[in-house]
Amino acid sequence: MDVTSFGIDHDRLLRGIYVSRKDTVGNGMLTTFDIRMKEPNREMVMDTSVMHTIEHLMATFLRAHPQWAEKTIYVGPMGCRTGMYVIFKGDLESADVAEILKDCYQYMADFEGEIPAAKSAMCGNYLDHNLAITKIECKKFVEEVLSCLKAENMEYPRQTG
Ligand SMILES: [Zn+2]
Repeated sequence: MDVTSFGIDHDRLLRGIYVSRKDTVGNGMLTTFDIRMKEPNREMVMDTSVMHTIEHLMATFLRAHPQWAEKTIYVGPMGCRTGMYVIFKGDLESADVAEILKDCYQYMADFEGEIPAAKSAMCGNYLDHNLAITKIECKKFVEEVLSCLKAENMEYPRQTG
């Protein structure tokens, strides 16, 4: 499987969960997932404060999860603000993480209370968070995408010619 991120047709890329790349490290494999929450160049991107809150909540959920904590290597926002990257240990496909990511986004949609680690000693910009909009974005992503994933939400469209 060719997983290079070059050659993806962003003009046709939909929202979904995509395998961005796979890397062999030692005897194991790491899989980087492109969790695309916005259609590139066709939808409004997310605010940085929302992506920041998603980063905190997603990392909290995954790193506390009984099965996925030890597989979770990294969670971070895309610079283009259309989605998130998550790196998991293992040679994985989108279908393998569909359930855990749906659970994660549902957790964020339902989250109430204090955002974890949003304190000056623990965060580089602790005032830059937005839980209210994060909940709306995550609910929308669960209902419109993660609850009804199709092949086109899990396989990159390739540039032709
Ligand atoms: Zn932070």
